Formats: sequence, C-alpha cells, structure tokens
Amino acid sequence: MNEEKQESRLVPEMIPKALFRRSVYRTVKRSVWDNEIRARVIEEANQTCAYCGARYEKGMFCHEEWKYMDKTHVARLVGFKLVCRDCSNAIHYGKSSTLGIQGKVEEHLAKVNDISMDEVKKLVREAVDVWIIRSGIQDWRIEIDEALIEDYPVLADVEIV
Ligand SMILES: [Zn+2]
Repeated sequence: MNEEKQESRLVPEMIPKALFRRSVYRTVKRSVWDNEIRARVIEEANQTCAYCGARYEKGMFCHEEWKYMDKTHVARLVGFKLVCRDCSNAIHYGKSSTLGIQGKVEEHLAKVNDISMDEVKKLVREAVDVWIIRSGIQDWRIEIDEALIEDYPVLADVEIV
C-alpha cells in the first residue's frame, strides 16, 4: 500500500460499458457505504483529494479504484480514493463529455498534471481508445482484491452483480 502515499497521476479512466453501474456503492446498503467505507476513506485521506490536494468539508467523492485486465477479462476492485468533484469529473471523462463540461475537465487535467492542452488531448484520446477496446468485452469477471477485503472486512460478503 506504499504507493498509495505517492501523488497519483490524474487520467481519465472510463468504465467499460458492460460494467456500468456495477460497483460496491450500488451493491451495499447505503449505511454500510457511508459508515464503514466512505467515512473511513474521508478520515484516512484527511479530507484531501488524492489527485490535486483540494480539501473540502463537503462534496468529496469516495472513488472506487478498479483495475481492468484486458486479456483475462478480470475487473478487480483494488482500493478507494477520496477525490474532489473536479478530479472525479476528469476520471469519468465520458460522462462529463455527455454533460458538456469536457472543456472545464480538460483545463483541470492540464493544471493538476502540469501539462499542455495538447498533452491533455493526447491523454483523452488514449483513454477513449482503451475504453473502446474494454467496452467490446462483455464477459468481465468481477473480483475484489484480497488485501482490500482484509482492510475492509465488510467487503467479504459483497457480491457485485
Ligand atoms: Zn481533486
């Protein structure tokens, strides 16, 4: 878990189509999410966004961090991160573009990563290419990382369908 301490690079990571709406958030009871997961993530992050360092009393998102194994079609939940609204919008670039706020999101990506708008466009293109490939996969197998279950025992009984 040491790499968690490092600043993470903010990149769009759009959810493959077949995995839309499949999340811990949508699976567990609201009280479990709020009290046993989200509250802890907020406390451990000291209310600070994992990507840009913004700190807000309210309106922070508990982001589910998923890794996608394109060859084996495994989608694995590996952690939770506290993110601000702007960074959440950047991660979910696809949704943001349907809401017409991609310009604002691209500016945020440039600022947080300290890169040019050309580099942002490249980052977005790459993310879209990856998303297209992953969205062609229908038979994802959903897993929760063992270490994460040890960390959050409540996840042991969670089956994301
Ligand atoms: Zn942020």
